[in-house]
Amino acid sequence: MRPTMRFGWLAVVLTPLFSTSAPASAQDLLIHGGTVVTSEGSFAADILVRDGVIVELGRALTAPTGVRSIDASGLLVMPGGVDPHVHLGGRRADDYRTGSMAALAGGITTISNFAFPAQGQTLAEAVAREAALIEEQALADVILHAGINDPVTQQEQVSTLLAETGQASIKIFMVNASFDANIRAYLATMAAAGRAGILTMVHTEDGPILARAVEQLTAAGKTSLEHFPDSRPVLGEVVAMQRAVGMAEQTGSPIYAVHVSSARALRVAQDAQARGVTVFVETRPIYLHLTRERFDGPDRGLYVGQPPLREQSDQDALWNGLANGTIHVVGTDHVAYRREVKLDPSQTIARHRAGLNNLQVVRPMLYSEGVVTGRISAERFVAVTATNPARLFGLYPRKGSISVGSDADIVL
Ligand SMILES: [Zn+2]
Repeated sequence: MRPTMRFGWLAVVLTPLFSTSAPASAQDLLIHGGTVVTSEGSFAADILVRDGVIVELGRALTAPTGVRSIDASGLLVMPGGVDPHVHLGGRRADDYRTGSMAALAGGITTISNFAFPAQGQTLAEAVAREAALIEEQALADVILHAGINDPVTQQEQVSTLLAETGQASIKIFMVNASFDANIRAYLATMAAAGRAGILTMVHTEDGPILARAVEQLTAAGKTSLEHFPDSRPVLGEVVAMQRAVGMAEQTGSPIYAVHVSSARALRVAQDAQARGVTVFVETRPIYLHLTRERFDGPDRGLYVGQPPLREQSDQDALWNGLANGTIHVVGTDHVAYRREVKLDPSQTIARHRAGLNNLQVVRPMLYSEGVVTGRISAERFVAVTATNPARLFGLYPRKGSISVGSDADIVL
């Protein structure tokens, strides 16, 4: 399989803040009069697109004959979003097609998913299985991360994954019950990934600490979702982050901590960064916009995600991290379930449907609550929603950038 197989079939997406009615010529156009915002700065420029690629950037460009032009006066012109943390397919309500539609409606042009091997499958086979579905269903571009669920056999496969399939990332779950029993194999997997130039994404919650919290709450009769935030305490995230940092330090392999939710876990990552350990940090819209008070209300089921919602002080620390560059990416961890499934009253702290549906709203919410309020600049907005994830997952400067030669994935 060629490396390009991890992208969807549609290399070019002009997101639907304007509409394209003539597909044959829609990939040639001039966008003029707007303010281009990149992670580096903002400037007035027109953009000429040919065959879906940006071929010219400059002032007072004119549209060649027959090329459609779009007046972007008064508008910001940004790279299409890149969301490296999306879950699609399986029992979830979104597949690659509807996930693409939600993303495109919200200014995201590259989504993602995780390829977990089924019983007896190799990582490469899992990637091929998902690549076939992407070919068939996806409208947006798609990054596939290989999911590690058997490090004992998969550590070997990681060494050849990038060359074989083009996958530049794997994901491990410290929260899995089998994590501790296989810790040596996970270390070897992470080491192999680092040597192969593959980024290891880590779900940083400690299984034993979470399991004990659930046991204690259960013994006290506190099994309803009202107690969900206490069933996955900050301590579990802190311990896992410390260990993940230790693993990164021991192996010399970079890590990418997904969905960091608490001030204390962020501090562990920041201390590691300050020591020169390569720890990339992702946070998630729910932690930036919501706090655990949501679990006081009757619709608490809607907010069940792992890790849970935290305190206002945690939220404040995350916004600071976004502003000061110690948080690199806002990824949704999008998991769509139908409302009635999320509100199913039989759910408990031990048995529930985790995940939130937020692909379509992540960028508008971050812009509204971050840029408009002055908490982050428009350039940081572009960095954490497009440029940084494009860089980390091997797509830059084709994605995440507005420059000559980049794909014309543009949001007005
Ligand atoms: Zn996730």
